[in-house]
Amino acid sequence: MADYDYDLFVIGAGSGGVRAGRMVAATGAKVGVCEEYRVGGTCVIRGCIPKKLFVYASHFSEDFENAGGFGWTVPEATFSWTELLRAKDKEIDRLNGIYIRNLEGAGAEIIQSRGELRDAHTIELIDVGRTITAETILIATGCSPSLPDIPGIEHAITSNEAFHLEELPKRVVIVGAGYIAVEFAGIFNGLGVETTMLYRRNEILRGFDMDLRTTLHAEMLKKGVDVQVEIGVTALKKTSEGIELALTTGETTTADVVMYATGRHPHTTGLGVENAGVELSADGSVVVDAYSRTTAANIYAVGDVTNRMQLTPVAIMEAIAFYNTVYRDNPMRPDHETVATAVFSQPEIGTVGLREEEARAQYGDVDIYRSQFRPLKHTLSGSDQKTMMKLIVDAKSDRVLGLHMVGPDGGEIAQAMGIAIKMGATKADFDATMAVHPTAGEEFVTMREKIA
Ligand code: NDP
Repeated sequence: MADYDYDLFVIGAGSGGVRAGRMVAATGAKVGVCEEYRVGGTCVIRGCIPKKLFVYASHFSEDFENAGGFGWTVPEATFSWTELLRAKDKEIDRLNGIYIRNLEGAGAEIIQSRGELRDAHTIELIDVGRTITAETILIATGCSPSLPDIPGIEHAITSNEAFHLEELPKRVVIVGAGYIAVEFAGIFNGLGVETTMLYRRNEILRGFDMDLRTTLHAEMLKKGVDVQVEIGVTALKKTSEGIELALTTGETTTADVVMYATGRHPHTTGLGVENAGVELSADGSVVVDAYSRTTAANIYAVGDVTNRMQLTPVAIMEAIAFYNTVYRDNPMRPDHETVATAVFSQPEIGTVGLREEEARAQYGDVDIYRSQFRPLKHTLSGSDQKTMMKLIVDAKSDRVLGLHMVGPDGGEIAQAMGIAIKMGATKADFDATMAVHPTAGEEFVTMREKIA
């Protein structure tokens, strides 16, 4: 057997790479992990975690406003962007430290460097000028923001930079209407920034249930986000007033910051996959089989770089499956079915299972239950925010195929309800479950009237 420097070498220390590296190192195997930016990856360093901290920060303006309805007089509140960034950076540093300790504590070696494949067993560690060999290699390099190639695009920022803006802009334009766009629109709007969202098609959040899309759209408008649809951007230009956007309507608009949230592409450029026999698909993602094995027998890939589902818990589950398959002699396929997810928009989205049109296409006869109501809290707050909850049920088997919600704590509710849906719960199971009163979640177990 050939002698390698490492049993496993992981390229990329994000959610997937760290989990795999840690688990494999704990078996006593010799594991190395290289990372060119910061250990923790997008989720911890410049994604889910700092984003959710920003969502909390931005919510206070609405909370202060609502407090009046409950008898509070709130003195004029002031906000410091600098202080928020300082606190957020401190927390991210703490988490980064924990990730490093977890990896090293399990016995893995972390190398601060970009890694590029030279052949199926050899990696060049560019920043430290070292070349290593490994029996097994795991590619876990994630994704990076993707921007369209239009004149002046260099004046735009992405979510990466949004976490480090020197000052809070007065006016922001966000291009795109996916997860990141709606989340940051809520953040900026809540922090008092004049916020515009521009979307090229006719309804935001393509790929989600239509009731979620229209409800969130209406609620965002009520909160003051200027959501404009069927508008594209043809060019950006820096002027003395800010950044001018030329629109497909022939008009222009100007903002202090233009943020593109137009998807994320797999981080495989320059990785040297061609030297190792690792095939990429047309979108640049690493092609893998059901066990995350690439077209090179000893090389695996997990997480966003495989573009199966760009979600942290999915990357972690893929890493666990890789560990079981390769190091525990327990072949395990990551399960991408019925994954619950949240969008931390304001109000929040929680969703699991099929959207209505998918359910109709796959099952034909489906029953729809939907409820739209003013949450109890807002009977006193004066806010006219609405919550929307929806169940999609297979008429034949009575199985709940989809559960969708726009409203406070939508993500928390989807997480809990996700277990029932994953287990194949029927509408009768939902009906037999006692309500927890008064909550929003109880609506899911008290829906009796079919609307379609
Ligand atoms: P999404 O794919 O969710 O959304 C991209 C948006 O940009 C869409 O509205 C898309 O429009 C639009 N778009 C794409 N290309 C262009 C273009 N050339 N010009 C104008 N508009 C364009 O990507 P995000 O960047 O928002 O997020 C990336 C991924 O990260 C998400 O898919 C998600 O998996 C993950 N994520 C998850 C979060 C969570 O779990 N809460 C939070 C943040 C990110 P169209 O619909 O027309 O294609």
